[in-house]
Amino acid sequence: MKLKIGVIKGDGIGPEIVSEAIKVLDKVVKTYGHTCEYTQLLMGGASIDVHGVPLTEETIAAAKSCDAVLMGSIGGDAKTSPWYKLEPSKRPEAGLLRIRKELKLFANLRPALLYDELKGACPLKEEITEGGFDMMIMRELTGGLYFGERKTVEEDGVMTAYDSLTYNENEIRRIAKRGFDIAMKRRKKVTSVDKANVLDSSRLWRKVVEKVAAGYPEVKLEHMLVDNCAMQLVKDPKQFDVILTENMFGDILSDEASMVTGSIGMLASASLNETKFGLYEPSGGSAPDIAGKGIANPIATILSAAMMLRFSFDLDKEAEAIEQAVLKVLEEGYRTVDIMSEGKQQIGTEKMGDLIAGYIE
Ligand code: NAD
Repeated sequence: MKLKIGVIKGDGIGPEIVSEAIKVLDKVVKTYGHTCEYTQLLMGGASIDVHGVPLTEETIAAAKSCDAVLMGSIGGDAKTSPWYKLEPSKRPEAGLLRIRKELKLFANLRPALLYDELKGACPLKEEITEGGFDMMIMRELTGGLYFGERKTVEEDGVMTAYDSLTYNENEIRRIAKRGFDIAMKRRKKVTSVDKANVLDSSRLWRKVVEKVAAGYPEVKLEHMLVDNCAMQLVKDPKQFDVILTENMFGDILSDEASMVTGSIGMLASASLNETKFGLYEPSGGSAPDIAGKGIANPIATILSAAMMLRFSFDLDKEAEAIEQAVLKVLEEGYRTVDIMSEGKQQIGTEKMGDLIAGYIE
């Protein structure tokens, strides 16, 4: 298979961590008889430096012509970087918001996976995390409260603010289908999270999710209220496989789930549209405090590349080869500084990429 991949190296540690992910991808495609064609795309601060804007029309068109985009992170230090003297619409982050919109990325996927090897970094009690956990948070990204009508008005002399939470059945159906498709590639369980005891939008959410579930008889569906889910994530995270939820609930729950895994440098993410296209990036930012030092953890980006193989190219075996190589490196005791613990061997970004690529089978 020929994989047409757009590459946004980005700012800060972006170029360092993306280079290691490409190294691992190159090894995987070679091992499994595929080829990659990379298109380098400029976005964020790197694009401002060259074009004066964080994202050009040409870059959008070039991204659309690829099958998937792999991205580092964008942005700089808000206090010192000249990018933040520009008006908000010209700053690095504006490029990210625009590309998500242009590519119609409505589904955000964030795995929260605790490796047994790294459980020391997890703030939860050992009896809760024994054996690790592995869940996927599937968050609707383009609807709900963050995109509804809003206004602040004075009513009878009292300032009053309105935000509206709207979902239509089509928006719910498409994200639910994505959630069930992904569950079929995992342990076949979906926990749909809502607030159906209070909200009309949640009651519609539940109804539509149940209809979609009928088309996936192998997948077990359960419903959970969002307040209970927030508790269950710290009480018994092992119970979850795919958590399917709307925009605001997903925003909050995915941050909670990522915190219980311990390290930002390990967390991959993907944003998908209605086709197989996806934008894959680490959950963390551009970490300007460690940029250029060769110490950033490239694993989140490497695991994002594995997600790309699985979800945009249906190359499950190849994705698994990357995940197994990451596991092996951790089992052998190699650590970047952010996940370092006593008795382990500290290595830099490049060495981590070399070792993972070397373990691809
Ligand atoms: P950050 O995630 O960049 O850094 C937070 C802390 O985590 C820092 O101490 C950093 O060194 C550490 N860290 C992050 N990734 C790491 C890695 N791979 N290996 C080792 N340590 C790592 O968050 P921040 O400091 O709030 O933001 C910095 C910049 O990144 C800002 O400009 C922000 O807007 C941007 N940002 C971009 C994205 C994105 O591109 N999607 C996401 C979040 C933040």
